[in-house]
Amino acid sequence: MRMIYGDSIVSTVAKLCITANYKLRTDVKQSLKIAGRREKGLAKYALKTILENIDIAAKEHIPICQDTGMAVVFLEIGQDLQVKGNLIEAVQEGVRIGYKNGYLRSSVIDEPLGERRNTGDNTPAIIHTNITAGDKLKIAILPKGFGSENASALQMFKPTDSMKKIENFIIETVRKYGPNACPPLIIGVGIGGTFEKCAELAKKSLTRQIGKLNKDLNSRKLEKRLLKKINSLGIGPAGLGGKTTALAVNIETYPTHIAGLPIAINISCWALRQAQAVI
Ligand code: SF4
Repeated sequence: MRMIYGDSIVSTVAKLCITANYKLRTDVKQSLKIAGRREKGLAKYALKTILENIDIAAKEHIPICQDTGMAVVFLEIGQDLQVKGNLIEAVQEGVRIGYKNGYLRSSVIDEPLGERRNTGDNTPAIIHTNITAGDKLKIAILPKGFGSENASALQMFKPTDSMKKIENFIIETVRKYGPNACPPLIIGVGIGGTFEKCAELAKKSLTRQIGKLNKDLNSRKLEKRLLKKINSLGIGPAGLGGKTTALAVNIETYPTHIAGLPIAINISCWALRQAQAVI
């Protein structure tokens, strides 16, 4: 059994929070560049400005966006790994330190229906854990801004509902909320499982690299079809019109109950930030 100390988790998480907020994912940046080549007019200008913003942030070590998000953390914990100390507390402490040292905005409030006081250190983070084989700890941090989080949706379909109805739900969600979610968007879709599982799948699907093909052929076809239809909505970069409303549609599926068909959509803005490490 391999052992790691809470301190190394704290420092790794702190660094990841800063890196994720200063440096955009390479695949997202590349995809924005490609989109810029096929756009013209205002759409081209919007993408050029976004790309300049990304470069300035990386060069000057400042956040890509003022909304530095609620920290969403995916932990893959090797079953042959022992953590000395409290794993969850170590992650929360890392977020606390990372947001403070990186001068990242604290956006988390305590009681959603109460006084909504800012907790002052961007904690608590949202932590998803998964037990895997091996003796390593994989940590992925996604700072999630709420301009796009608010554009998300979930619906419990009937197993008899048609594919057309499901596609319409996804497309109409983007049509309705997409313009306020800072497009070009990355659309995460979770299909199956339970109410909460499909939401988690939708979020997790955002971690898949843009352009990386879905292993499942049917999902891959659906991703392609949805992306085409979403891009024909004409919302465009920054909502100014154009061909690029979304950069990708990523679908994740999971077996579900005979009586149900849960579908969740989790939307990310162009600022799809993510950093990960293995310790
Ligand atoms: S939706 Fe994204 S780009 Fe827009 S303000 Fe929020 S974090 Fe920033």
